[in-house]
Amino acid sequence: YDDRDGWIWFDGKLVPWREANVHVLTHALHYASSVFEGQRAYGGKIFRLSDHSARLRRSAELIGFELPWSVTEIDAACEEVLRANDLVDAYMRPVAWRGSESMGVNPIGTKPHLAIAAWNWGKYYPPEKAAKGIRLDLAEWRRPAPYTAPTQSKAAGLYMIASMSKAKADAGGFDDALMMDWRGQVAEATGANAFFLRDGVIHTPTPDCFLNGITRQTLIDLARRRGVEVQERAIWPEELESFEGFFLTGSAAEVTFVQSAGPWRFEITSLQQQLAKDYDDLVNGRLA
Ligand code: PMP
Repeated sequence: YDDRDGWIWFDGKLVPWREANVHVLTHALHYASSVFEGQRAYGGKIFRLSDHSARLRRSAELIGFELPWSVTEIDAACEEVLRANDLVDAYMRPVAWRGSESMGVNPIGTKPHLAIAAWNWGKYYPPEKAAKGIRLDLAEWRRPAPYTAPTQSKAAGLYMIASMSKAKADAGGFDDALMMDWRGQVAEATGANAFFLRDGVIHTPTPDCFLNGITRQTLIDLARRRGVEVQERAIWPEELESFEGFFLTGSAAEVTFVQSAGPWRFEITSLQQQLAKDYDDLVNGRLA
């Protein structure tokens, strides 16, 4: 992704895409002192932009550093990146990290940096697969307990297990992996939250050791607006057999239907089709 035309916002300036580089002694590269965001623009408008910018700042604080840019400034920088690259429908990747100003586990002396890139990304999962529902592997790695890591931070370090699980799923011919948490309860996919349906009721794991996604919160609102009951609770894998539908939510994944997860099979219910349409209408400005 480094060899292409375009502009990346880097510590306050737009720099040519190929020149947006960091030094090999960057603290973040050695000690994972990095946090990031992922958001989409639809028709030139970035969906829930300030919520993403606020989460970026919060993610950094949770791993011990403060960004010298306010939410308003990060919002403005995101808009600038979109315009500079002539993008209307795009995926955007803000990333913040501790730099190479000093070396050692102790981050003292490092400076916070921020870069924002944007590009055309289309759908997260291949549309022909998503139409029938994607197939999930069961991850070998579990989401860590909240007392072992700041699990509400969108911190790069927490993506090591997600990335390994996604690679294993891919190698096995799956589209993604379903991850359990340290207790063995159902958690989420490697980059998206999980929702289940049964008898017109939605069930979703309580986000106590993984991100309470912005798309997840949006979906819960949309469902409740339709009068659909949403239960946030502990879900054990044994219960998966009894659910009719399963879908994932995320800024990149949007609303994606799941056909299977390990040995369990699901249908695409009319309710989840309705909610996917509501989400599409909302992000495209067709729903208040
Ligand atoms: N969980 C993980 C691990 C993710 O990477 C994401 C994507 N940011 C989500 C959940 C969904 O979050 P959001 O809806 O805010 O994009």
